[in-house]
Amino acid sequence: MERAGVADILNAAGFRFNKALGQNFIFDSNLLDAIVSDAGVTAEDTVVEIGTGAGTLTARLAARAKKVFSFEVDERLRPVLDLTLQGVGNAEVVFRDVMKMKDAEVTDIVGGGTFRVVANLPYYITTPLIMRFVESGLPVSSLTVMVQKEVADRLTAEVGSADYAAVTLAVKMFGDAAVMRTVDRRMFRPAPNVDSAVVRLDRVPGRLDGTDEKLVRKLVRAAFAMRRKTLVNNLSAAFGIPKQSAAECVTACGFPVDIRGERLSLDDFIRLSGAMGR
Ligand code: SAM
Repeated sequence: MERAGVADILNAAGFRFNKALGQNFIFDSNLLDAIVSDAGVTAEDTVVEIGTGAGTLTARLAARAKKVFSFEVDERLRPVLDLTLQGVGNAEVVFRDVMKMKDAEVTDIVGGGTFRVVANLPYYITTPLIMRFVESGLPVSSLTVMVQKEVADRLTAEVGSADYAAVTLAVKMFGDAAVMRTVDRRMFRPAPNVDSAVVRLDRVPGRLDGTDEKLVRKLVRAAFAMRRKTLVNNLSAAFGIPKQSAAECVTACGFPVDIRGERLSLDDFIRLSGAMGR
């Protein structure tokens, strides 16, 4: 259903956009098709969409995928979606907050096979949502997410750059991240006050194989806890160890004693976990 149709249905239902739920919808067919292409969806794929809205992206995902499970929290959209997704037999809308669901509950709905996540969500939950999936045990093969441009920069940042952050590394542990396109704020109804980008994360299995995963994650969190402090100071604080011991671990890996966490790549953190674990 094209823009006028969906907009008319929203109007006829007396639908009012809820700012608190981040309801900035996309009606532009070209952009919707581009997002589906960015996500790499094929006829073999199960897709989990988060934030159904008026179902504009859902319908296009369903046209390419085997099956779409779309999660939405706003029950007011039920009558709208009954119309906009009429005849779309392979899309199922689930009125639940995926952020509050356990992995097993998601699996009960989606089934045990791998799936792709696609989301155009309120900006305040994009980072928690990405973390929820990249750190879960769920068989997610990729995530394609509309994020604020600044978040896209952080997710894809180079080691040592100003945007390099704990979330960059969390994503690196999952796989590879790429910005697929930038999206002008005027492409949304209503327009938000930031520009956006579509980011795709593809799982690369085995990045943490043979490591103490929990320790690697704790080291990353510690290293970025106080960005302006040295790695030694952050490790000493987070692990409750004397600075001298932290310094020994850092220098044993060949890093200068005054290095900051933002200079370390994922491989460096893995190396450090070896030294810390000893
Ligand atoms: N996908 C639609 C589109 O592109 O037009 C809607 C996008 S709109 C930015 C985000 C949608 O996510 C809203 O419909 C909102 O009600 C819904 N939402 C907000 N929080 C959510 C949550 N925790 N889980 C699922 N959906 C949520």
